[in-house]
Amino acid sequence: TAKNEGRGRWAVHDPSRDEAETARFTLSAALPSAVAHDEFFVLYQPLVSLADQRVRGVEALVRWQHPRLGVLSPQLFIGPAEETGIIVALGRQVLEHACRDARAWYEEFGPAAPFVSVNVAPRQLQEPGLVAEVAALLDRTGLPSDRLQVELTERALTIDEGAPLKALDGLRAMGVRIAVDDFGTGYSNLSYLRKLPLDVIKLDGSFGEGLREEELSDEVDERIVGTLVALGHALDLTVTAEGVETAAQAARLRTLGCDEGQGWLFAPALPSADIARMLRRGTPLGPRPGDLLGA
Ligand code: C2E
Ligand code: MG
Ligand code: MG
Ligand code: MG
Repeated sequence: TAKNEGRGRWAVHDPSRDEAETARFTLSAALPSAVAHDEFFVLYQPLVSLADQRVRGVEALVRWQHPRLGVLSPQLFIGPAEETGIIVALGRQVLEHACRDARAWYEEFGPAAPFVSVNVAPRQLQEPGLVAEVAALLDRTGLPSDRLQVELTERALTIDEGAPLKALDGLRAMGVRIAVDDFGTGYSNLSYLRKLPLDVIKLDGSFGEGLREEELSDEVDERIVGTLVALGHALDLTVTAEGVETAAQAARLRTLGCDEGQGWLFAPALPSADIARMLRRGTPLGPRPGDLLGA
């Protein structure tokens, strides 16, 4: 009843939490018009081969250029966008930007051009038209399908086995690569590893945190990473480590068998023009401060 709700709210009253909730609600309500007015842009963070430091691919990371609040992190709006379903339209725009930019790199750099890896939300995977849309997009932009990768969280892969499996089979059949994002932080039920057509696992940054210090490496973290790498390789998957911040960590991840790394050590998320400049120079840009909002 209203009375009980009222009492419950009194008991936990916390003004800062009210403010956060109001802000979240306000952002959420503003999303549809922001999508309609093209207020989103995409930055790209290099995925670097740990063996030779070459940029193999880039991950597309969306930002919201809010007219009053400035550039907003996806951590603030992806959740609300998923809850309201607007993620489907937003995700379509991200895919479009990503494929266009990747096509431009492909034109300039040919086979050495990086693939682009795009985060796809669970909701998008359940849209029956996704595969046809991606096919049309590749066709329209002229991007070869092997230059596109999609990143899905374990949550997306375990929600309802029917829909994701069909979509993933369709994307895979076209030549698009499939990556599991934030691997190891979702459900412990790993049966999807047997059932789904996968190419890459991205180890969540939290597993590499204990490997950052030059002197003191966390032995448990090392064993966990080593074991997850072995699991990935046993399944013929490429293993990418997220959140690589120090040279010591990159060296350790390489020793543990990780194939690729992504993180501030190599480069933050950058505008597409900076990616092109970096590719012309031939190496990642090197350490830079945090990239939450991407400069
Ligand atoms: P994610 O897919 O796991 O992306 C990696 C996040 O780690 C990015 O945060 C990236 O900027 C950050 N990061 C990069 N290097 C480092 C590092 O060395 N250390 C640390 N601590 N963090 C690093 P970002 O850009 O804020 O994105 C946050 C999340 O928002 C993403 O996590 C992804 O789940 C989601 N997201 C971003 N763009 C999209 C999108 O277009 N669609 C969907 N559905 N989700 C998106
Ligand atoms: Mg990702
Ligand atoms: Mg990730
Ligand atoms: Mg992560």
